[in-house]
Amino acid sequence: MAAANDPKLMDRVVNLTKRRGLVFPSSDIYGGFRSTWDYGPLGVLLKRNVKDAWWRAMVQLRDDIVGLDAAILMAPKVWEASGHVATFTDPLVDCKHCKERFREDQLPASGACPNCGAKDSFTPARQFNLMFKTHVGPIEDDASVAYLRPETAQGIFVNFKNVQTATRKKPPFGIAQIGKSFRNEITPGNFVFRTREFEQMEMEYFVPPDQSAKWFEYWVNERYNWYRDLGIPADKLRIRPHDPDELSHYSIGTSDIEFRYPWGWGELEGIAQRTDFDLTQHAKFSGEDLSYYDQENDERYIPYVIEPAAGADRATLAFLLSAYDEDEAPTGEGKVEKRTVLRLDPRLAPISAAVLPLSKNEKLTPLAQEIAGSLRPHFFIDVDLAGAIGRRYRRQDEVGTPLCVTIDFESLDDNAVTIRERDSMSQERVPIDQLVPELHTRLGF
Ligand code: ATP
Repeated sequence: MAAANDPKLMDRVVNLTKRRGLVFPSSDIYGGFRSTWDYGPLGVLLKRNVKDAWWRAMVQLRDDIVGLDAAILMAPKVWEASGHVATFTDPLVDCKHCKERFREDQLPASGACPNCGAKDSFTPARQFNLMFKTHVGPIEDDASVAYLRPETAQGIFVNFKNVQTATRKKPPFGIAQIGKSFRNEITPGNFVFRTREFEQMEMEYFVPPDQSAKWFEYWVNERYNWYRDLGIPADKLRIRPHDPDELSHYSIGTSDIEFRYPWGWGELEGIAQRTDFDLTQHAKFSGEDLSYYDQENDERYIPYVIEPAAGADRATLAFLLSAYDEDEAPTGEGKVEKRTVLRLDPRLAPISAAVLPLSKNEKLTPLAQEIAGSLRPHFFIDVDLAGAIGRRYRRQDEVGTPLCVTIDFESLDDNAVTIRERDSMSQERVPIDQLVPELHTRLGF
């Protein structure tokens, strides 16, 4: 509705997330730590649902993809082989006037400093490596340098042989991983869109070289449809093929799935044809043979790789922005009032159903707790006892709870409760002993 074109949409979403415990600035009581964020009680549920939806689509529902959880700290040679030590850099410039730092490739065409407006005030660009360096063990010398991984992908490549041998999977097959990555971004910002610590959801799909183009197209479509299926509207989602001069050193073809954020189109996920670059490099640097022997055709080859690489934080933000809406709802006094509603897909909503006794009463409260207890093994449930029922509906609407289960005095006699739907606000009476199957049906899982 109107909210989609609201110039204040970003502010409203950021405020809502802080107020309702979805996302807090990190180290808040110390004034925050620029560019890092903490997911609060509801945010951790939302982000977990996003990751679970990815894992379900990529691993659980398929027999050609297996999972992995590799370490964040890896042998430093990994990053030499992958090209990160030499080339994982952004061009950094300083404004000589106000001393702010910028990425040269993100400066406005006018050439004016985005901070102070000075013209032609930039230093020549220096290449700045985005990897966080640390030291392993007590001695801080060159020999003990290690890096926090800037992507999860390399943990998959270095385990290719282990996983293939253990699972006896044959190309085409994939390895999926969700985990933290770290990049010392020059200009973090736009809330959780660009941070220095973030979570990735990456899958490396190993294919016979002559099938690379076919699988690339397949994965671009699959991943686009995943976002659509979970509620991102078509006019906020696009596929953007990279220009040849934009391609990373390892890629012969990349398409980004982009979301229309309030500040413009931005990458949600990149799908790349990485050829045999990674396995060849790791074979060279490690001395291990990382080829695959295809028994049926009696041939040995290094698999090509298709990589859909998504960000859990950017996806969570895109789902939040797509879901945010404002409309009108009836009040107890027969008037209408503005309501804020997150129209999240039920699979993503932090709370699946809220159990609300109509009033704080010595009979209704225990019944509400009993019903909540019977639902908890199946769904994420909240119980809210305090305040007028209309206020409590509003509180659930604004965090996207798809269903409310209301218990009133009649419930004590007829063993039935009212289910109220977030989007239509329609209400229907349902027997208590039918609640579990009824909620399964209405939530769709
Ligand atoms: P960008 O061009 O926006 O810096 P990228 O092309 O470097 O992104 P990839 O290396 O393709 O990003 O990483 C895959 C995904 O990881 C991105 O699509 C994004 O969702 C996520 N991601 C990358 N960098 C960040 C970051 N600094 N903060 C949050 N998410 C990120």
